[in-house]
Amino acid sequence: MKNKKVKLDEKEMLKLIKKFIPNFETLRDVEIENGGRIITLKSVYKESNKQRYISLAKKLEECTEYDPCKSMACAKCQRTRRLQILSKWLSFFLENKGYKMATLIIYKDMTPNKKLSQMDIDALSQRLDKTIRRIGFEKPVIGGFDMDYHNYTHDSKGSHWMPHFHLLVPNEPEKLEKLRSYMLRPQNLYARKGRKNRPIRIDDIDNVASALSYCVTGMWLEIAWFINEDGKLKKFKNKRRILDKRVFAKSLIKLNRLKASQLNFGVNVQKR
Ligand SMILES: [Zn+2]
Repeated sequence: MKNKKVKLDEKEMLKLIKKFIPNFETLRDVEIENGGRIITLKSVYKESNKQRYISLAKKLEECTEYDPCKSMACAKCQRTRRLQILSKWLSFFLENKGYKMATLIIYKDMTPNKKLSQMDIDALSQRLDKTIRRIGFEKPVIGGFDMDYHNYTHDSKGSHWMPHFHLLVPNEPEKLEKLRSYMLRPQNLYARKGRKNRPIRIDDIDNVASALSYCVTGMWLEIAWFINEDGKLKKFKNKRRILDKRVFAKSLIKLNRLKASQLNFGVNVQKR
């Protein structure tokens, strides 16, 4: 088993990123993104008068390359997190083909927006960690935790957060089957009234570098739902940034309370 990880130095890394992930965000991109986040946080502070919003805005303002804030709500520090994962794992995945991309959706833990701050992400990760270990994949399973905001534009009370994981999993068919049955257990499959869910998706990987980077994006996006002319509930195909500034600010507060290690997922990873 080829399981040796070679940590890349920064120069090599940036060269590989340029080659394999040409749209990887630049420092300039994340500075602009943070600028937008600061404006949103200040504006929500003005309306709500809640200290946490202005404190987070200040934290992002003060983040520098030499004294990073390390907040998971900070686009700059999220970029650093992605770079760290890539530098640890990219050479491994370039050498070890035989991997698939798995998206695992935890329907049974979908959470209304007003309960977002109490949501226990560690419990979700620990349960998945236990399952993946029990299944017994031989090679590393690497990825991250992510959330989508399902915005019910026709009925805001129905809007909710949907937790999920993006993982690179070894193509070991029997084990993938076990993972599939776990995800399809009834309490997850029928978590939404009257609707059958699709809790697992396994895709081939064309570009392992961008797949790995995608697994650890760390920016929570929105999926918009609406009622069409025939009265049916439909969703827009593409994810977009969260439009409601209060919801977006709230997601930043939640992210700010998390550590990189709580967003990263890894099994069969030796300590280094
Ligand atoms: Zn930062």
